[in-house]
Amino acid sequence: MNPNPPRHANRCIYCGSMENLSDEHIVPFALWGDLVLKKASCAACAAITSDAERQVLRGFVRNWRTVNRSPTRRKKERPSTIRIRFGNEYREWDCDVPVEEAVAFLALPLIQGPSLAASNETSLKIAGFDRQDPNQPQALALLAKHAAIKAEMYCDIEPYSYCAMLLKIAFSYAAYLRTDFSKYDLFAPEIILKQPEQAWRYVGSDFQAPVRITRGLHSVQLVHRRYFNETYLVGVVSLFSKSGAAPNEVIIGKPIDPALGDVVLLQ
Ligand SMILES: [Zn+2]
Repeated sequence: MNPNPPRHANRCIYCGSMENLSDEHIVPFALWGDLVLKKASCAACAAITSDAERQVLRGFVRNWRTVNRSPTRRKKERPSTIRIRFGNEYREWDCDVPVEEAVAFLALPLIQGPSLAASNETSLKIAGFDRQDPNQPQALALLAKHAAIKAEMYCDIEPYSYCAMLLKIAFSYAAYLRTDFSKYDLFAPEIILKQPEQAWRYVGSDFQAPVRITRGLHSVQLVHRRYFNETYLVGVVSLFSKSGAAPNEVIIGKPIDPALGDVVLLQ
């Protein structure tokens, strides 16, 4: 039995429209997300949110998705080879390796922040990367076959789109939980729709958190979290938490009533 049955919003969670509604996957379908809020996004808002997701999923996550055969609605567009740069003591060379033999690692950027709470940060800073490493026996077999001692692949990290995607995940999860948004000064919908390139201000990766392995592939929680003297409504989004990746704290809004300010796990 699915522990997370689909729920219905029956209106766009971003703009309130009740027309042309489509289902919203909280974590993208292409990352095996199975939590769905039905009839939750209008066509105009879906075009905006899917743009950030596309940058990530067809960008730096693409090779990893291809090798690990993540779900896709466009099977015919799936590449049959992956370009890998091999190297030995003397030289480096590129080779298009068939997907069945290829390996890929995923490097999720760790974002310093949330800058919004730290007030004066003016640019996005990446503190490091959370790596999802490839299957080790397959990686060794690939090196042996190509008589190489190292293998690398081109990976153009898109941290701004990645943060916009995390903000969408956090906010849509709060909507899935039927959070009473009238109790909050909400920041997320405005940023998601009008300033997705500013989403990084709302995101901070907790790279010092103790590794917490979860049963599901990903985990999302909703909490009240205090940064300095202010309390915020925060989605804790851990992509690939099953293999110990760090959680990202994503500010969705702020309680209107200070009495709501206690630090508490909402769900
Ligand atoms: Zn909408």
